[in-house]
Amino acid sequence: MARKIAVVAVGGNALIQQKGKESIADQYAAASQTMGYVAEMIQDGWDVVVTHGNGPQVGFALRRSELAAAELPPVPLDYCGAETQGWIGYMFQKALNNVFAQRGIAKHAATVVTQCLVDAADPAFGQPTKPIGSFVDEAAAQALRAQGKHVIEDAGRGWREVVASPQPKEIVEAPAIKQLIESGFMVVACGGGGIPVVKEGGELKGVPAVIDKDFASSLLAGEIGAELLLISTGVEQVALHYNTPQQRWLDRMMVAEAKQYIEEGHFAAGSMLPKIQAAVRFLEAGGAQALITDPPNIARALRGETGTWLRH
Ligand code: ADP
Ligand code: MG
Repeated sequence: MARKIAVVAVGGNALIQQKGKESIADQYAAASQTMGYVAEMIQDGWDVVVTHGNGPQVGFALRRSELAAAELPPVPLDYCGAETQGWIGYMFQKALNNVFAQRGIAKHAATVVTQCLVDAADPAFGQPTKPIGSFVDEAAAQALRAQGKHVIEDAGRGWREVVASPQPKEIVEAPAIKQLIESGFMVVACGGGGIPVVKEGGELKGVPAVIDKDFASSLLAGEIGAELLLISTGVEQVALHYNTPQQRWLDRMMVAEAKQYIEEGHFAAGSMLPKIQAAVRFLEAGGAQALITDPPNIARALRGETGTWLRH
């Protein structure tokens, strides 16, 4: 019997639960907890692909490269992305294989270093918005500009490089991911939204940009024919009038309602907005259902007891 595929996009809280808890041991403890919830889905009959963010981790990788500049060649942003996909994947694989062994689940996890194709003509490249790397002084900012980088001044805190956040167009490794699922593997893929690449004269080329992980997860879910896009984040449910006295938690939203709430400005840009947009895109691309909740509530939400469901 064909099992149903779920893409589970885990947010930053799956690895760093609070500021200061950023050591590898802390991140592994958080990853183990989250993967325990994912393993329950597998026991319930889902084929799961885990995708994840990498914001803080890629920031640390860039910082290490900066600090080592006197001794070692710099690591470009796309390679920092690949590096974090690798070690976060290792963390998830180890955590998953350990839970599988504990619970007697006959599964193995495998991570796919994932490239994500973007359009070199994406208008986002004209207006870079995502800050990366450390704050620098004016002289260092000028030096970065001389290298063709975009640098903006951040209200009194100094200057910082910004990169574009283009739209993902195609998951380069989607066929490999699909094959692995069909062969029974639990796949970790699309870390940090995937490594952004463009096609130049038929060749793939990494670009210094950042792809939104919720958009990349939505695209992947469509490309591999997933039944469910589950966005696991820091809140149990999505709210209207979030953090105001009028706050109202939502059990469900139809696509048309979701679009209306977006128009009305209920979802914060850079946090909840991309999740709702990603869910809407998945449904409009033919997906059946999307769910937003936090890791401890995944099982309850799948039973229909909580979370925010998006359907046609
Ligand atoms: P992730 O790391 O999972 O991508 P984000 O912090 O980017 O998480 O986005 C999730 C956060 O969005 C929630 O933890 C919440 O603080 C915030 N948020 C903004 N608007 C809303 C809303 N309308 N309903 C619920 N949460 C919201
Ligand atoms: Mg986010």
